[in-house]
Amino acid sequence: HGDYNQKIDYVFKVVLIGDSAVGKSQLLARFARNEFSVDSKATIGVEFQTKTLSIDHKTVKAQIWDTAGQERYRAVTSAYYRGAVGAMLVYDMTKRQSFDHMARWLDELRGHADKNIVIMLIGNKCDLGSLRAVPTEDAQEFAQRENLFFMETSALEATNVETAFLTVLTEIYRIIS
Ligand code: GDP
Ligand code: MG
Repeated sequence: HGDYNQKIDYVFKVVLIGDSAVGKSQLLARFARNEFSVDSKATIGVEFQTKTLSIDHKTVKAQIWDTAGQERYRAVTSAYYRGAVGAMLVYDMTKRQSFDHMARWLDELRGHADKNIVIMLIGNKCDLGSLRAVPTEDAQEFAQRENLFFMETSALEATNVETAFLTVLTEIYRIIS
């Protein structure tokens, strides 16, 4: 494999959180393997995927954790959050409720994670623009108030997925270096 023998300078753990079916697993599949599957099963088994990339001439291994169908309130265990230096807080822009739940996901995240954790709010499924249920401004306002990065993405069309992860990873690097 490509990164056999490669010297890793940093390992950054990043967690994906948000309601079920917002597209967390597909965002990860898109970022880690440039894949998307239409009929993705509820995630089982695999806890995380890695992607090794270069930031500022350093080799960074991103270890991205995906919830294994634990998306019910308070079902995600503290082990999931432990050691995380970044988080992707994902809602489905066609499902208002998934956005309304962001506040409590954020509470839970802040209750478990390091206080310097870098957080990106993600409105996924922007390819379904005609079904939009969350105005960009609502999300922007929430992100600004809570001091989060914000992006609208499509795992399906690969819109902003790379940019969202790279923004978080680069900011983590900036903080720790
Ligand atoms: P998770 O439960 O948050 O991990 O959500 P999944 O990644 O399993 O995705 C749930 C459903 O939404 C699946 O049917 C995906 O194919 C679909 N989906 C995920 N991302 C997108 C996207 O960007 N656009 C569209 N149209 N569908 C998506
Ligand atoms: Mg999943």
